[in-house]
Amino acid sequence: MSTAKLTIDLTAIRANWRLLNAKSTAETAAVVKANGYGLDAARVATALAKEGVRQFFVAVAEEAPAVRKAVGNEPQVYVFSGHMHGDTDLIRNNNLIPMINSVDQLLRHVEFLPDQPFGIQLDTGMNRLGMEPFEWQSVRELALRLKPHLIMSHLACADEADHPMNSRQLRIFKDMTAELAIPKSLSATGGILLGTDFHFDLTRPGVGLYGGLPFSDARSVVTLDIPVIQTRDIETGESVGYGNTWTAPVPRKIATISAGYADGIFRAMNTAATLYAGSTACPVVGRISMDMIGVDVSDVQTQIQSLQLINETHGIDQLAQDAGTIGYEILTSLGRRYQRRYI
Ligand SMILES: *Cc1c(COP(=O)(O)O)cnc(C)c1O
Repeated sequence: MSTAKLTIDLTAIRANWRLLNAKSTAETAAVVKANGYGLDAARVATALAKEGVRQFFVAVAEEAPAVRKAVGNEPQVYVFSGHMHGDTDLIRNNNLIPMINSVDQLLRHVEFLPDQPFGIQLDTGMNRLGMEPFEWQSVRELALRLKPHLIMSHLACADEADHPMNSRQLRIFKDMTAELAIPKSLSATGGILLGTDFHFDLTRPGVGLYGGLPFSDARSVVTLDIPVIQTRDIETGESVGYGNTWTAPVPRKIATISAGYADGIFRAMNTAATLYAGSTACPVVGRISMDMIGVDVSDVQTQIQSLQLINETHGIDQLAQDAGTIGYEILTSLGRRYQRRYI
């Protein structure tokens, strides 16, 4: 077997949801956008539905049918991008709840799907999606008459607990939704950790479910084992890989492993990345190729079949740090040719 093996622990995802749910005074939803952060939205949603999750969020309507099929008709499936031009059939046929984010969308929704539930998305300062205060003011009365299912906003800096933006957005959200008897939602993973003031009626964790920061207590969800294709001993002064960018300072044992940048192992990471044989760290040497990477395994005494790039002790956020990115991007870049195994 020469393709790398990605193990996805659905029981850990369920456990992470329980942990976040226990921290929250609100109902806890699950965000399964971007194909469940790259881990397969249908499988993730199925596992979480068994755990009792009744509210799911996707980014765009096209992502919703797989989730609807997985969870059945009862749970709610919300769409962050709202009711976009061309989405009407998907929304109707999959019984979705679009999170309306502009006056245009509200009018489109009322015109094409007057009986279909919807939510309202407010902008409290992130300037990404949602109605701004003046816009909300202008359609508030109309929208309220149509009884929105949920009213939400999103925090820009929730992963930094002390950031003044958090309390500012909280205050604006409270001002914009004061006295409304509609379920409210402000927090994703980061907001749950900011405390109960931020929880309102529904929380929307994503990355924490999948084992990522800022939820530092999360259980690890993914393990990536990459097979060794060949091992060789090289002399002082010999180089490894394209461009001769790395030269052995002393005699070394080099393993060539079967994955590369075509699998989402960013080439820009260069030699910052480390693989593991058990607890022994094995640094990447030379350039990362499309399908192969050279790794210094001189410190490994035993015969090795494979090395781990992601495991329980060196998870997605450690790898993200090596790559100058965040755990979210590591997850959503995980290669499509990995042989995936679900626990
Ligand atoms: C992605 C997203 C979430 C989930 O965020 P995490 O940081 O992954 O928990 C929640 N709400 C909105 C609007 C989002 O875009």
